[in-house]
Amino acid sequence: MMISIIIPVYNESLLLPVLLDRLYNSLGAISDFELIFVDDGSTDNSLDLLKARRENDSRIKIIELSRNFGHQAALTAGLENASGDYIAIMDSDLQDPPELLPEMYQILLGGDFDVVSGFREERKEEYARKWLTALFHRIFSKTSGLREIENTGHFSMINRQALDALLSMREKTRYIPGLRSYIGFRQTKIAYHRDERASGKSKMKTSDLFKLAADALFSFSRFPLRVCLWLGITGVIVFFLAGIHVLLSKIMGWAPVGWSTTAISIYFLGSIQLTFLGVLGEYIYRTYRESQNRPVYFIRKKYF
Ligand code: UDP
Ligand code: MG
Repeated sequence: MMISIIIPVYNESLLLPVLLDRLYNSLGAISDFELIFVDDGSTDNSLDLLKARRENDSRIKIIELSRNFGHQAALTAGLENASGDYIAIMDSDLQDPPELLPEMYQILLGGDFDVVSGFREERKEEYARKWLTALFHRIFSKTSGLREIENTGHFSMINRQALDALLSMREKTRYIPGLRSYIGFRQTKIAYHRDERASGKSKMKTSDLFKLAADALFSFSRFPLRVCLWLGITGVIVFFLAGIHVLLSKIMGWAPVGWSTTAISIYFLGSIQLTFLGVLGEYIYRTYRESQNRPVYFIRKKYF
């Protein structure tokens, strides 16, 4: 039985030696594995470092992407090129402890489960980021209808059958934890403490995180559309009643209905409509991207 471990790398040269040490230590008894590092257009010497390590151990495999395509694309590249019977994905910044891999492997070997994901009991991260992530997870797990997705991230191991299912979903808007949950099969979780990144700054800018959150929300639920619809219907009722009130006021001379009422309703309706158009736009943009059908990534060179 072979394990493929997929690790996206974007300017992580400081951490790679530590990561490799910890990986070798934790995999210990398991000898049949491949480490697939996906170099996502790093501009530091991550790639050289990996190539040097590969000289001594051909189980280190490298996919060099043609430029930076982002975390999800890098993971997809790794998954599509994995040849193991069991396939793990993890970050290269040691936030996902490699020590958990043997435990995940044992669970899958048992045969009762096809997917095991790391469940973050606690995460040590910058306060604002932690809070925003928690908020996203709340909303996403409620709106996507995916089961038990809250507080599980990328760190996971799945078997070949589950991987085939995952890869059969060819969409361009990829939120891998969502896709992994969507396929079903027998899924379980193991709890772990997510540490801070071992060194350096996060390679995902806050704007990247917002983009990822939007991709997840818009590709797994029509909740935003429903909100618009319900608000629209509420608006129709409210403005119908308000209209009657305005007319009566005019006829009976109760209160002056002047320009401020008109201005407020124009501003209010105008901004609501723009917001709704924005929500529609998000879906249309994603539909457009699907129809363009561009590859999710390009590979410059494979070291296999
Ligand atoms: N990463 C990547 N491409 C990117 C950004 C990040 O391959 O454009 C990798 C990065 O090297 C790391 C993983 O994806 O292994 C997660 O990134 P990071 O730790 O910066 O994200 P965070 O944990 O802060 O969400
Ligand atoms: Mg990280």
